[in-house]
Amino acid sequence: MSIDYDTPRKTDDDLDEGSVDEFKTRRGDPNSGRVDQDESEAAELFELPGADLSEEELTVRVVPRQRDEFSCAGCFLVCHRSQLAEQRDGRAYCRDCAG
Ligand SMILES: [Zn+2]
Repeated sequence: MSIDYDTPRKTDDDLDEGSVDEFKTRRGDPNSGRVDQDESEAAELFELPGADLSEEELTVRVVPRQRDEFSCAGCFLVCHRSQLAEQRDGRAYCRDCAG
């Protein structure tokens, strides 16, 4: 009855598993393959600030924190004073972090 259906299905599964296994074997541990990808992504992220370091330094020097801005002690973002929600021990917290 369902032999016709079962046979091709089994072949399909075999094919799938086989290709996946081959894939894993070629890349070694499947986890290492993942880490590899993450690492290359992280490396790209690391290279960006390194390459633009001088420019970034310049930007920081040219644009210091504005008087109407503060750096939040919670998220370390520079926020506008209108975002200031709380001050504790001389530290300012934005609305997101004060709650
Ligand atoms: Zn904050």
